[in-house]
Amino acid sequence: MPIVGNQMLGTLRRIVQEVNDAPTLEIALQRIVLRVKQAVEVDACSIYLRDSEQMYVLMATLGLNQTAVGRVRLGSEKSLIGLVGSRAEPINLDDAPSHERYQYFPDSGEDVYHGFLGVPILQQSQVLGVLAVQAVEGVRFEEDSVSFLITVAAQLANAITHAEVAGDVERLLGKGHRSDRPLLGLAGSAGVALGTAVVVYPMADLNAVPDRMVSDTAAEEQQLMAAMDTVRNDIKALLVRLKEMKVPEDDRVLFEVYLMMLDSGGMLDKILEYIQQGHWAAGALKKAVLEHVKVFEEMEDPYLSERALDIRDLGIRILAHLQNVPGQKSEYPDETVLVGEEITATLLAEVPSQKLTAVVSVRGSNNSHVAILARAMGIPAVMGVTDFPIRRVDGQNVIVDGYQGKVYIKPSATLAKEYVRLVVEENELIDELDSLHNEPAITVDGTTIPLYANTGLLSDIGPSLKCGAEGVGLYRTEFPFLIRDRFPGEEEQYQIYRQVFEAFKGCPVVIRSLDIGGDKALSYFPINEENPFLGWRGIRVTLDHPEIFLVQIRAIFRASEGNDNLNILLPMITNLSEVESAKRLISRVAKELKEEGVKIGRYQLGVMIEVPAAVFQAEQLACQVDFLSVGTNDLTQYLLAVDRNNPQVAHLFDSLHPSVLQALQHVVKCAHIHNKKVSICGEMAGDPAAAILLLAMGADSLSMNAASLPRVKWAIRNFTHQQATQLLEQALQSDSATTTRERLNLALNDIGLGGLLRAGK
Ligand code: PEP
Ligand code: MG
Repeated sequence: MPIVGNQMLGTLRRIVQEVNDAPTLEIALQRIVLRVKQAVEVDACSIYLRDSEQMYVLMATLGLNQTAVGRVRLGSEKSLIGLVGSRAEPINLDDAPSHERYQYFPDSGEDVYHGFLGVPILQQSQVLGVLAVQAVEGVRFEEDSVSFLITVAAQLANAITHAEVAGDVERLLGKGHRSDRPLLGLAGSAGVALGTAVVVYPMADLNAVPDRMVSDTAAEEQQLMAAMDTVRNDIKALLVRLKEMKVPEDDRVLFEVYLMMLDSGGMLDKILEYIQQGHWAAGALKKAVLEHVKVFEEMEDPYLSERALDIRDLGIRILAHLQNVPGQKSEYPDETVLVGEEITATLLAEVPSQKLTAVVSVRGSNNSHVAILARAMGIPAVMGVTDFPIRRVDGQNVIVDGYQGKVYIKPSATLAKEYVRLVVEENELIDELDSLHNEPAITVDGTTIPLYANTGLLSDIGPSLKCGAEGVGLYRTEFPFLIRDRFPGEEEQYQIYRQVFEAFKGCPVVIRSLDIGGDKALSYFPINEENPFLGWRGIRVTLDHPEIFLVQIRAIFRASEGNDNLNILLPMITNLSEVESAKRLISRVAKELKEEGVKIGRYQLGVMIEVPAAVFQAEQLACQVDFLSVGTNDLTQYLLAVDRNNPQVAHLFDSLHPSVLQALQHVVKCAHIHNKKVSICGEMAGDPAAAILLLAMGADSLSMNAASLPRVKWAIRNFTHQQATQLLEQALQSDSATTTRERLNLALNDIGLGGLLRAGK
């Protein structure tokens, strides 16, 4: 059964094309069985789809009797097709009838076949059906045929997903079939919502702009400036709208950045340069924008690479005005779920706030501005839903589950009812959480623990204050460095830090010295290493470049002047000598500033415990400084030898691993022996279940992102310290993170806090 190399590729392309062009799923299935039968040179090819009763229904065949289509229904337990489905892997047999799971259907005409190959049709790890080929001859199928069938099945999965949305599958499998199969993406903003999908498209296509040379460059310049003016006015109007929508001022800063991009030299100069060279305005714009986009896309920092989208969005807006393309629609249904290939922050801002209920974006991540904005507005968002049938979804009912990153299109009445219930409960929960704003995080039996916010962007300050944080437990100073094309000067840094100290007057602010390296590379300070996470990062860089460290510490001291709430934190400490060196530099700065007349108030110095070496020297470190702060993200990465950014091993990254918990417990004990405080500031602190364990360990404060804080507070206020201690004892003895997670989830459920684990209450 020979199909090799080019022939296979050619056939695949043809199948993809034919499936895409097919007007209905039925026709697509018929075309596939024909093409596959020809390509693999087999005697029969059939497609089975799984229905809502988990039966595999024959939907198309060439080689079996046509009368069997729609009538042959095979169970998961008793058939070879069912076995392929339940094992979710190919089954290749030279004599199918002798297999114990072989089930003969009298009218199917199957009795003549011996060779059998079935592959599952999988979409996002769910089995939608089975594609099978059969041969009269008793032979096993070759490797090439197996991989060909797997590839075709993947194409088929997409077609089925799209057909489900159009109602084709329901029609084919009979009324009542509703798979309620979610499409999976990334949880961009928590919450659940039901609504009507409104698909939005970018207004103009930058990539489609042709190159064109002109002689009247002055006229092109004039056109460009006029278009930019209009965009500037549009954005200003959007800013006003956002204000009316009660989007916090700090989140509107995103759009101020758009205005800055319009006005700042970089991009504009580049566009003008191309116009001077004779390019027409649209072409010059395209070139300059795509160049900028590329630079940002290549940045390793996920926050910065997402900025590429903002630049493209801005470019598209200018282009639309150059081309006189009309804007997006102005009519939105109540309960609009905004859906798009790449939803931008401006597309989102165009929907009247009272009508916007959720966002679904095919591209983007939870670092995208649109996700940041959705969180600020408190609406659910699911990002990066790669298999989303965007062309078919406009006007359909959808459910968006921003907790689990799931989207359901045309949900069944039962599922919709369940989600309506969850939305009601969710609203009750939000009211309950809001009412805790000014309440302390205190256990039922009276143990309190301060909850602080992790911030890094000025736009985080608003949400941090709003969520009831009692201070800043970790201010990551990298962002101002990452978004520039050179090191920010002392004055620039001062201005930024000052806003943080002012906003949190009277509350502690922990500001971390520059932690670049690892996955945070500066475009203007390249670090090329084989193993960046084990390389030149954090304090290692700044001690090698005291000029950078000294300027930053000067800016920090000056910014905190008169506030008495300064805590300086040193990242990636591995050796006691690093602390000694940093202390010397800090004292030098303090002395110089005093001589210059700056008032240096009381301040505390702390080190991050995020390297295993620091865990084992926690006692000595505690003696050297005023406080310890555990970065559980890196500590988990280094203890478990799991790259924190590698999706391949993401399932192994779990801070509830007993070794991580033991390390944390050890650090807390060491610090307390010397009367020093310990804060936990990695993502773990924002996980309500894990926070219970950290409280029981004796952590003195927890610092987390603003969105997690109310839920952590709610959890703490519903446990007793005694319950937490018991859970901790079990967790420390546990054999795995999974067991601990299950136990904690059970405990949360038992006391009615299931709403922390999923939608609802
Ligand atoms: C950590 O490593 O846990 C931490 C808080 O620092 P960052 O995530 O910035 O590396
Ligand atoms: Mg870290």
